[in-house]
Amino acid sequence: MNCYVTAETTPGEMRTALTPVTAAALVKLGLKVQVQPGLGRKSHYADGDYEKAGVTFVSDHAAALAGADLVLRVRKPPAEDIARMKRGAWHLSFLDPFNERGLLDAFVAAGVSAASLEMIPRTTLAQKMDALSSQASLAGYAAVIEAAQRLGMALPMMMTPAGTIMPARVFVIGAGVAGLQAIATAKRLGARVEAFDTRPVVEEQVKSLGAKFVKIDLGETGQTAGGYAKALTPEQVAKQQAGMAKIIAQSDIVITTAKVFGRKAPLLVNKAMLAGMKSGSVVVDIAVESGGNVETSRPGEDVITDNGVTIIGHPCLECTVAHHASQVLAANFAAWITHFWDEKAARLRDDLADEILKGCLITHGGAIIHPQFAAQA
Ligand code: NAD
Repeated sequence: MNCYVTAETTPGEMRTALTPVTAAALVKLGLKVQVQPGLGRKSHYADGDYEKAGVTFVSDHAAALAGADLVLRVRKPPAEDIARMKRGAWHLSFLDPFNERGLLDAFVAAGVSAASLEMIPRTTLAQKMDALSSQASLAGYAAVIEAAQRLGMALPMMMTPAGTIMPARVFVIGAGVAGLQAIATAKRLGARVEAFDTRPVVEEQVKSLGAKFVKIDLGETGQTAGGYAKALTPEQVAKQQAGMAKIIAQSDIVITTAKVFGRKAPLLVNKAMLAGMKSGSVVVDIAVESGGNVETSRPGEDVITDNGVTIIGHPCLECTVAHHASQVLAANFAAWITHFWDEKAARLRDDLADEILKGCLITHGGAIIHPQFAAQA
């Protein structure tokens, strides 16, 4: 089976879907692995190490796509790449399927079986393949590092003969995978950390990291069976904003990570709340790519408000730590392939009864087969 891993073309994308370690694992399984030269350059994996792992370098991208039984990449593909693939081939990447109807239709037209990393069920069995979690952890870490660099203040308390520096105050909104890592990182740097999430089950996890859980009574909130937050009503969002305004005004760093799976992120920090913040404070909107939690945040830009608050809208915080982000992401890809690998037949099993495949396979056999997206056809 030919597996082709393409270089990323999205500006600012520094990660790769394959590292030398996972290349060696795939070769050992029995795959023939082809990559473009320089595949891992931006994430600091050397061509020589891929070579030692047993990959073949190809420079004709179109021919490699046409000959591949499986294509791996981090970001969604350009439409012309899909058209070049052979019928019956597999494609695995992030796909943003809720917002990319055209892409799904292109996979159907090409007869390609497209699996979406975002849709891999977050079950114990699929934990090794959970790319949302592996990347969110690093994004949470990187958010604190980015904010600390822009703050112009130290984070820890320091007692010096010249006086005492008080610890910076960090407020994390949304304590899922990214939020919990942001809390842990800010704590390690010595900040005083508070956090809020609409899922009450998170309170214990926040406290176990040594942070304070902010209580805001929103009435019925809860979570889905998959552990995701439910969307709030406009009244609940207003209550949440009122409950958070004072804490935000006192904070030096605010990190927002609040997302609702498959929907636009809720707007939680409005202009009035930003106007109440201290000059020099920093806000990092981790949800900026999915609509944003902060009213004036913009993907790919830093916005500085009239009162001196910097709002960081970095679209890929995990890309700032691309070496490690690629290490764990490539491991997610390799775990997916290993799970579906049929050693005897030396190909992927299209076992449509498999719970993991049912969750993440969007197109197959020239149709959209995932019920969540087929319904929109
Ligand atoms: P996410 O990225 O969808 O959301 C981030 C956080 O924002 C969540 O904690 C959510 O509750 C919170 N949020 C949503 N609306 C909010 C609001 N208005 N105000 C404040 N916070 C808000 O979620 P995630 O971090 O990817 O994962 C969330 C949960 O999914 C995890 O904590 C866990 O329970 C579950 N999960 C399970 C597994 C597994 O079993 N293998 C793996 C990963 C995640």
